[in-house]
Amino acid sequence: MLPQKHFRTVRGMRDLLPEEAEELRWIEKEARRVAESFGYREIITPLIESYELLALKIGEENRRRMYVFEDLGGRKVALRPEFTASIARLVAAKMMNKPKPIRLFCTGSLYRYDEPQYGRYREFWQANYELIGSNKPDADIEILILTDSLMKRLNLKDYYVKIGHVGLIRGILCMEGIGEEEQNHLMHLLDKKMFDEAMAYLKGIGCSQKCIETLKNMTEARSEDKHEAIESIIKLVGDYREAYSAAKNLSEILDLLEEADVGIRYIVDAGFARGLEYYTGMIFEVFVPDMEIAIGGGGRYDRLIELFGGEPTPAVGVAFGIDRIMLALERGRTRTRTETKPNILIIPVNEEVRGEAFKISSILREAGLTVEIEVMGRTVSRSLSDADRRGITHTIIVGPKEIKQGKIIIRDMKTRKQREVHISRIPEETINLLMSHN
Ligand code: AMP
Repeated sequence: MLPQKHFRTVRGMRDLLPEEAEELRWIEKEARRVAESFGYREIITPLIESYELLALKIGEENRRRMYVFEDLGGRKVALRPEFTASIARLVAAKMMNKPKPIRLFCTGSLYRYDEPQYGRYREFWQANYELIGSNKPDADIEILILTDSLMKRLNLKDYYVKIGHVGLIRGILCMEGIGEEEQNHLMHLLDKKMFDEAMAYLKGIGCSQKCIETLKNMTEARSEDKHEAIESIIKLVGDYREAYSAAKNLSEILDLLEEADVGIRYIVDAGFARGLEYYTGMIFEVFVPDMEIAIGGGGRYDRLIELFGGEPTPAVGVAFGIDRIMLALERGRTRTRTETKPNILIIPVNEEVRGEAFKISSILREAGLTVEIEVMGRTVSRSLSDADRRGITHTIIVGPKEIKQGKIIIRDMKTRKQREVHISRIPEETINLLMSHN
């Protein structure tokens, strides 16, 4: 015999046990409901994409953390670290002729070789929404309102949004003649909150003192008050034309958000940057109190579809981290789904009636009920105590004597009452009993 070997999950990978898997799928279901209610249609894209596609605009941090390998055909591929690149590819290649806007939803697992820690895994799940074809603030607002709708559905009502605009910093850097690669590196440093390094980097690449001062002040400009935030941003970017129009755009978005009266709590953060490089406009992240890591994030990316060969097509989207939402729900103990669905265990009294027991289980499943069957060869009394322990609501005892009379016994596990039911009336009688049980 070979020596026993114990295997573990690979570092950063997790097994989701039934309760966790149930929770994850529940969040996914709620996310899908929100998608439906906003008219977003689901798409399914592959887990494996070409490395080149994924790497192009993902940002240096995420690029380093991709699972990259060569497939057997010699192609350099990677496990998807996010959805937006795949969606932009799909829209550019297959949906250019569709009437705009296009509203798309998808969910699934993503892979990043992050350092495993609380809320940061190497395999994680997202629910992702993209609104494609509009450059109007109305589209940005829709994504924020959709965020609000999902948070409320998940009972995370005390969430708040950090909101900014990549055009503020990029606008300044552009006018200073700083190239895109340098801009990207700076955004990466800001995303990592490495502010001192960011300022030193600007100095190193010959950025003017005025620009460094402006950017430094920008990283300190935060406010929950819309007017105060916009006023101080406009003051900072006054001389920089592109950054000024970004500030105007942000102001318009926030105005419309207030008019829509959704009551989203937000903080405007002018120095806010996100790791993904494709953003061109508003960016935001979603937080819940007492949890420092974001449970969702998104923004506007007006040039990605074009970069992937499509026509110039503006777009805005958001992705929610389902694993982190699970953590947020645990923290707030807002888990409210303790519903006990009626479930049935069928117990054959001896080996001769096993076939009958299986037949009855099929009849009940076809009638839409959840049915288990005793497969451990236990006695009736042991099966009943096991059913009790596991919260089974009803058992059906299939005995040779009753079968001969064309009957079975249904037992309500709570009241311990039993009654005989004729086999021809099994589904109706069982359903009646389950209804009266609830
Ligand atoms: P991003 O695709 O980076 O914009 O991330 C969107 C959301 O996905 C984040 O706000 C997180 O909730 C979630 N997320 C990102 N990376 C991870 C990770 N390594 N583990 C778990 N969740 C993550």
